[in-house]
Amino acid sequence: MDTIIDEIRDRDPEQHEFHQAVQEVVESVKPVLDRNIEYRQQAILRRITEPERVLMFRVPWMDDDGQVQVNRGFRVEMNSALGPYKGGLRFHASVNLGIIKFLAFEQVFKNSLTTLSMGGGKGGSDFDPKGKSDNEVMRFCQSFMSELYRHIGPNTDVPAGDIGVGAREIGYLFGMYKRLKNEFTGVLTGKSLAWGGSLIRPEATGYGAVYFAAEMLHTRGDSLENKGCLVSGSGNVAQFTTEKIIQLGGRVLTLSDSSGYIFDEQGIDRKKLDYVKELKNIRRGRISEYAEQYPSAVYTPVNPTLDHNPLWGHKADCGFPSATQNEINGVDAQHLVDNGVRLICEGANMPTTPDAVDIFLDHRICYAPGKAANAGGVAVSGLEMAQNSMRLSWPRKEVDDRLKQIMKSIHRTCLEAAEEYGNPGNYVAGANIAGFVKVVHAMLDQGLV
Ligand code: GLU
Repeated sequence: MDTIIDEIRDRDPEQHEFHQAVQEVVESVKPVLDRNIEYRQQAILRRITEPERVLMFRVPWMDDDGQVQVNRGFRVEMNSALGPYKGGLRFHASVNLGIIKFLAFEQVFKNSLTTLSMGGGKGGSDFDPKGKSDNEVMRFCQSFMSELYRHIGPNTDVPAGDIGVGAREIGYLFGMYKRLKNEFTGVLTGKSLAWGGSLIRPEATGYGAVYFAAEMLHTRGDSLENKGCLVSGSGNVAQFTTEKIIQLGGRVLTLSDSSGYIFDEQGIDRKKLDYVKELKNIRRGRISEYAEQYPSAVYTPVNPTLDHNPLWGHKADCGFPSATQNEINGVDAQHLVDNGVRLICEGANMPTTPDAVDIFLDHRICYAPGKAANAGGVAVSGLEMAQNSMRLSWPRKEVDDRLKQIMKSIHRTCLEAAEEYGNPGNYVAGANIAGFVKVVHAMLDQGLV
């Protein structure tokens, strides 16, 4: 196993996030490999860590000043053993092949856990939507899709949103796909309700993460009632995580963006959350404005000289990292533990560094990794695909009930797998093992392809 990790490092030395994601899964599934010699004979680890296909393409577009801009587009089609490739598109300046590969790799196991029939993929671009006009975003999306369209399809590869890709971008991408293919199909999820989207899809990742947290607490005879919660981020996941925590009686104390964070000791209530939604989704403003609007809140700008994020230094019962990868490091984890945190539930993908994960596990914190806790988003994407295939749409309650059932089932599956392989209560081991075993069975059934 060490050889595999060394090989992956040697082959693509700069893909640090991908190495990190692989290392975590490989460590977790060691007991599975020990019990199944066939997995080793069939070189399952080598095969599962190598994408089935990697697409990288030029995305030229013209800005509002008439200047030509060039970005790089990616789609990593990681594994199709369980269904069409499925996973979001991320538009962010930090995007590179290593980031997309880590996200695609995580997606394979996450999608496997949802119980729905979806393979794993991920894509995106280093295009930075911040400060761009609607027209610039539209031209970029059209150029991006004018290459991507030939590689995707409702039975091949079904992209969706991720950081920097929301309803607006999905609309422009869908429009271009439809024009090029002359086909109105469910090729993207996260569509607007009026033209093929699913109810609850916008809410699904955040709601699902909170359902997962509630389930972790429930099995321990506890609930989110009156719990102080630290939420990072202020995008789609953070907003609907906050909404569900409020509905379940918890108190959300923080939100953030890439410039800094706000701490509101009185808690973010429904009215304040509506303000955040309008600020971020319509005005596309910065979270600092929250503190100007609500004097109970303090805004702290990012300080690049710090070795930790002060957001995680506040005393709270629960943490919901919902911004981006590696946003909780070992120092942050120690602060959280010292302040008595009881639960960490990841709305973002891989927000916790490996040393921080060890701190949570050593202190027996209820720790839910993203590939289990944030699977509600892609699960409802799977339900959107099902509705599109039937050309009908389910009522809000039906989708929400299915989401709740799926999150409960993922929770149970993680605990059972962790128990079966000698790591009771460890959701990291449970999620990785359960996600892995299902994909591997399908790969073995389908032969050496
Ligand atoms: N980007 C989301 C994720 O990380 C959703 C993907 C999807 O809906 O396909 O799971």
